[in-house]
Amino acid sequence: MTDAISITRDLVRCPSVTPADAGALGVLENILNAAGFEVHRVTFSEPGTADIDNLYARIGDQAPHITFAGHTDVVPPGDESAWTHGPFSGEVKDGFLYGRGAVDMKGGIACSVAAVLEYLRDNGGRPRGSISFLITGDEEDVSINGTIKLLKWAAERGEKFDHCVLGEPSNVEVLGDTIKVGRRGSQSGTLHVEGVQGHVAYPHRASNPVPDISRLIVALSDEPLDNGSAQFQASNLEFTSVDVGNAASNVIPGQARAKFNIRYNDNHTQESLRKLVEERLAKACGNRIRARIVWEPSNSNVFVTKPGPFTDLAVGAIEAVTGHKPELSTSGGTSDARFISSYCPVIEFGLVGQTMHQINERTPVADLEKLTQVYRGVLDRYFA
Ligand SMILES: [Zn+2]
Repeated sequence: MTDAISITRDLVRCPSVTPADAGALGVLENILNAAGFEVHRVTFSEPGTADIDNLYARIGDQAPHITFAGHTDVVPPGDESAWTHGPFSGEVKDGFLYGRGAVDMKGGIACSVAAVLEYLRDNGGRPRGSISFLITGDEEDVSINGTIKLLKWAAERGEKFDHCVLGEPSNVEVLGDTIKVGRRGSQSGTLHVEGVQGHVAYPHRASNPVPDISRLIVALSDEPLDNGSAQFQASNLEFTSVDVGNAASNVIPGQARAKFNIRYNDNHTQESLRKLVEERLAKACGNRIRARIVWEPSNSNVFVTKPGPFTDLAVGAIEAVTGHKPELSTSGGTSDARFISSYCPVIEFGLVGQTMHQINERTPVADLEKLTQVYRGVLDRYFA
């Protein structure tokens, strides 16, 4: 059975809580093999992390090449007895399909596979170009042995992607309300201020870092990083903790530090952003305050797929099936799209995200049918 509901059920019945695969990729491998895809299973490793299974499958050897990306791993079910239907049952009741991953994002993958099979059936078994699937088992946890390495592996084999649809649950209220076309970047750091420890009764012999770090926090928080851009809201630097590590009320502390996180838009790159903040810090310090920033490593760069023929085509397919004109949004948390965007334009469109990661995760069966039609519409328009 290769309709979206059957494939979703088969996937949900594999308890593939990261890093376990539990047979989930095998479900896809069998279906795609039978449909004539060249299927590769690739395992990636890294010291200190679990080995992860990934799948890459392609049919066709011509451009244009559209790839459907996704992940078969899921977050843990939580308290299983709190579920009204087993988290790995794939049960259908009152028009809903229940189970961990139904929405995020086994359902989305199942719809893309079902749509591609339908398209191939109606077009003599071969696309007028190429279709592939980039599926990982490492999205919900550390994301080290997944999409980022699978893309690199594919590129080294000479694979070239023209466009990507990532089937993450992008919709907020109803199917068709939102396409994600980008995300802000995320960069964390710690501000360190050096003082001189001393007795509170003899402050002239000490240098108190507390008023100094307060001034720096205000200076860095007050001046906006930008005023937003065409696709994004304004970047924001937010301090999240201040600490001097001092329990004594008669001691002036020797150091102070404050942690912060920046969510930034496409006015910046990671490098230009760090430079801007450090310049502002230097200005606020003058010759007097001794301070520095220690940046944390980040692989969450900002990206955006600008509106154009590809987003128009997706909007057209979504409108035709759902009657909704989707918003092109850059809000929300991170996904593997941040890695894919280095290789080709990527949009995210999948199911409605309301119950993802919750007890009783579920999707309306009707949404699985509609999403399959949307993906089919994307393929028809893409290869027209
Ligand atoms: Zn997801």
